[in-house]
Amino acid sequence: MAAKLSSLENPKVKVSHRGAQRLKAGHVWVYRSDLVSADGIAPGSLVDVVDERGRFLGSAFYSSSSQIAIRWLSREPIRQTDDLLRQRIRDAIAYRERVVEDTNAYRVVFSEADFLPGLIVDRYDDLLAVEILTQAMDQESRRATIVSELSDAFRPAGIIERIEAKIRELEQLPARASGLLLGEKTSTVFAMNGVKFHYDALAGQKTGAFLDQRENYAAAAQYARGEALDAFCYQGGFALHLAQRGSKVTGVDSSRPALEMADRNAELNGCQVEWIEGNAFDLLRDYSAAGHKYDTIVLDPPAFARSRSTLETALRGYKELNLRAIRMLRPGGILITCSCSYHVSRADFLRVVGEAARDNRRSLRIIESRTQARDHPILSGVPETAYLKCIISTVS
Ligand code: SAH
Repeated sequence: MAAKLSSLENPKVKVSHRGAQRLKAGHVWVYRSDLVSADGIAPGSLVDVVDERGRFLGSAFYSSSSQIAIRWLSREPIRQTDDLLRQRIRDAIAYRERVVEDTNAYRVVFSEADFLPGLIVDRYDDLLAVEILTQAMDQESRRATIVSELSDAFRPAGIIERIEAKIRELEQLPARASGLLLGEKTSTVFAMNGVKFHYDALAGQKTGAFLDQRENYAAAAQYARGEALDAFCYQGGFALHLAQRGSKVTGVDSSRPALEMADRNAELNGCQVEWIEGNAFDLLRDYSAAGHKYDTIVLDPPAFARSRSTLETALRGYKELNLRAIRMLRPGGILITCSCSYHVSRADFLRVVGEAARDNRRSLRIIESRTQARDHPILSGVPETAYLKCIISTVS
């Protein structure tokens, strides 16, 4: 009996005082530099986390290669993850039933913020797009559980796995291609806030769309007016929402495939939008130098700061972009400016946008200081889960 019990025990990972403090403060990661001992633990194992004196701190997933060595799961001792994964997926779905409205595209599972570290699931109408980001979630039995639970809950026409090759490399997982895990369908049309979008599960960026901006699209559309410029428009998220409210919109992006999709989306909604393929930094510089004017400008660039070391450069980049945009706004114009870099704090972002206005001798009033849509919840104690800033302001 004793032998049987001990064979059910999880391997133990001992963490430093700093690692233990981090968990006690509500964070869910322990970095490799804060491990005291984790010898011989298999990649992706379910482990017991203990402090330097051997006291149990919680159950977690272990990665043998990531700098994030421990992803915390529970204060309770857990011996198998099948039931836990199923229950947490059901909880995540129930949470969305409370906070998501007016869309059939939203994030169903947001990794740590849903206590499912390493798993992302997005719903697009009758398709589900899944991203598996860690050794632990990649284990065959866990993959099977995830697919089975999602299939029971949604009866989807397709579950598609999206692969980011770099993430698999970092986790030292064998290369895989994006593809179907269940069903046969890989494209559909979804709708949010009454705007329709084509979806191709095997193309595009992220899992296909920027679902985290869904509520910001609706807010932007509420204030936007007149002639509008959507810089970094991707497949037209902001642009189409503005066009539907009667603005005359120009969308700019450097990605041709994104603009081709944007154009199909405009047609789907019966909207007229002018799409320009090009570098938005150059275009803003040239247009502002040439004296172009707009009533509404959206700035939603890709993440500039991928690490803390590039923060200063990123802030200069944001300032420059906002400076040019504000110069082109007519008095009373609306600026919708976003940053999705976690490393850029809201305070820093507001500061550089404010400086950009003052350098233009303009006044900026903030109407709304927004974040990601509620289907991307923010977990208290884990600042990394709060990454999106979307500031809507009027410039006089
Ligand atoms: N606003 C979009 C998401 C934008 S993501 C939405 O809500 O759907 C950032 C976009 O910037 C991507 O589409 C990418 O192709 C584009 N991009 C990256 N660098 C660029 C550049 N220098 N000029 C123009 N577009 C760029």
